[in-house]
Amino acid sequence: MSTTDTPALNAPTGLLIADEWRQTSQRMPVTDPASQQVIAEISDASVSDGLDAVSAAHDAFQTWGLSAPRVRAEILRKAFEIMSSELEICARLITLENGKATRDAMGEATYAAEFFRWFSEEAARIEGGFRYSPARDKTIITDHRPIGVAYMITPWNFPAAMATRKLAPALAAGCTAVLKPAGETPLTALWIGDVLRRAGLPDGVMNIITTSTSGAVSSAILADPRVATLSFTGSTYVGKMLLKQTAERVLPSSMELGGNAPFLVLEGADVDTAIAGAMIAKMRNGGAACTAANRFYVHESVADSFTSKLESAFAALKIGPGVDASNDLGAMVSVKERDKILELLDEAAGEGVVISASSVAPTDGAFIAPYVVRGVEHGSSLTRNEIFGPVAPIVTFSDQADAIRMANDTEYGLISYVFAKDAGEGIKVARQMESGMVAINRGLASDPAAPFGGMKESGLGREGGFAGIHEFLETQYFAVDL
Ligand code: NAP
Repeated sequence: MSTTDTPALNAPTGLLIADEWRQTSQRMPVTDPASQQVIAEISDASVSDGLDAVSAAHDAFQTWGLSAPRVRAEILRKAFEIMSSELEICARLITLENGKATRDAMGEATYAAEFFRWFSEEAARIEGGFRYSPARDKTIITDHRPIGVAYMITPWNFPAAMATRKLAPALAAGCTAVLKPAGETPLTALWIGDVLRRAGLPDGVMNIITTSTSGAVSSAILADPRVATLSFTGSTYVGKMLLKQTAERVLPSSMELGGNAPFLVLEGADVDTAIAGAMIAKMRNGGAACTAANRFYVHESVADSFTSKLESAFAALKIGPGVDASNDLGAMVSVKERDKILELLDEAAGEGVVISASSVAPTDGAFIAPYVVRGVEHGSSLTRNEIFGPVAPIVTFSDQADAIRMANDTEYGLISYVFAKDAGEGIKVARQMESGMVAINRGLASDPAAPFGGMKESGLGREGGFAGIHEFLETQYFAVDL
C-alpha cells in the first residue's frame, strides 16, 4: 500500500510546535499491523524539539490561562462538531495504525469526540467556595485556577480517546499542553491536533511531539520547571518509572495504568446477559484494553453453559484486516504484542488447562484467534498477567466469598465486572471489589461523564466526569476578614 491510497493518511506527519508543523530530518515509520506495510513516516523529536514544545506551551499559557471559560468552551464544542462530522476519517486512521476492527474504531472515535463535548460543558462550570469558618473568625474562599503546562503521554490501544480524555479537561481548565502519543499510533493524535487548530485553538496552546526516544525526551520535559503536571496513561511499569522522576520535582501526576479485571458470574446470573457483557468486556478492541476482562470467575452452576456459549460466540467472530468493516476482530497492534499473548498461552498450556480456539487467524500480519481456556487455576500465569488480547481464562468457583477474594487478589484495581441475579446483589458485591470502577450486569463502564480510574497499582486520579478537570486545576484558599 502506498501512503496515498487513503485520504485518512493526509494526517500531518510533523511535530506540532507553536502552531507550526515541524519536519525533522530524522524520521520514524508507522506500520499497519494488518498488512505489515509502512503507511507513513513521521518526525522524530529530539530533546531540544521537546523543550521547544514546552516553551510554546509556556508562552501560550500566559494568555490562555486567563481566557474566558466561555471562549475555551466554544473552541472545545467546535472541536467536538468537527470530529463528529469526520468520525470515519478518525476511525480509518485508528484502524490503519492500531489494527482494530472498523466497528471498534468507530466506537472509539465517537467516545473520543464526546470528551470535547463533555468538557466544553464543564469549562464554564468550574466551582469555587465561599463560607464562614466553623469558628466564624474568617471567611474561607476557595478558588481553582489552571495548573499550567501539562505534559501528556498516551498509549497505543486507544490513540484517539486517551488523547482527548486528557486534552479536553486540560484545555477546558485553561492549561496548555504538550502531548506525546505512543510510537505505534502517532497519526491519530496528530490528526486531533489538526482538528483543534481548525476549531480555533490559539497558537501554542496544544503541542504534539512524536519521538523514538521517549525516555530521554520525557525526562528532559519533566525536569523543566515550566512544566506543572504530568498526565500519563500506559503500563504500571512505565508509570512507576515516571513517578520516580516526578517525585524529584514533587510534580502533580495523574496515572491511568494497567489492569487485571476480574469478571464474576455469580449463582443465579442470567447467562445470556453475561455472555453479551463478556463479548464487550473481553473483545472490545480485541482484548487490548486496560479495562478488558482478564479473568473469568464463573459459579459452578453456570460454568458449563457460560463456557460453551462463550466458545460459540468466539467462533462466530470473523477475523481479518480491520479496514474491512465486515471483520469483527482486527490485528493486534504489532507482531511483538501478538507474540506476547501467544507466549502466555504457551505457558498456560504447560499448566494442564484446556485451550480452545474455534476460528483460525490469517497468518500474515499481527492476527490472533480468540481463545477460551478451561480449567484455569486462580494464581496461574493467565490470571496474574495482563493478557491484552482475545483470551478468556475461566476459573470455576462454588463459594461467592472465595470468588470475591480471588477477584481482589491482585496488585491492580482498575475495573471489575459483576453479573448477578439482580442489581441489588450486584451492588452488594461491587462494594467489596477493590477497583475504581465496577460494571454491574453490563460489559462497558467507560463514559466521558463518569470518573474513570483505578485503585491500587492501576493509578492515581480520575479522568472524565466532574473529577477530570480537577487534575488540571490548582486549589487556592483565601482566608479573609470581611
Ligand atoms: P507503555 O509501554 O507504558 O507506553 C505508554 C506510553 O509511555 C507510550 O507513549 C510510550 O512511548 C511511553 N513510554 C514508554 N517508555 C517511556 C519512558 N521511559 N519515558 C516516558 N514515556 C515512555 O504502555 P502501552 O504498551 O503503550 O499501553 C498498554 C498499557 O497501557 C497497558 O498496561 C494498559 O493497561 C495501559 N492502559 C491503561 C489505561 C487506563 O486508563 N488505566 C488506558 C489504556 C491503556 P513509546 O511508544 O514511544 O515507547
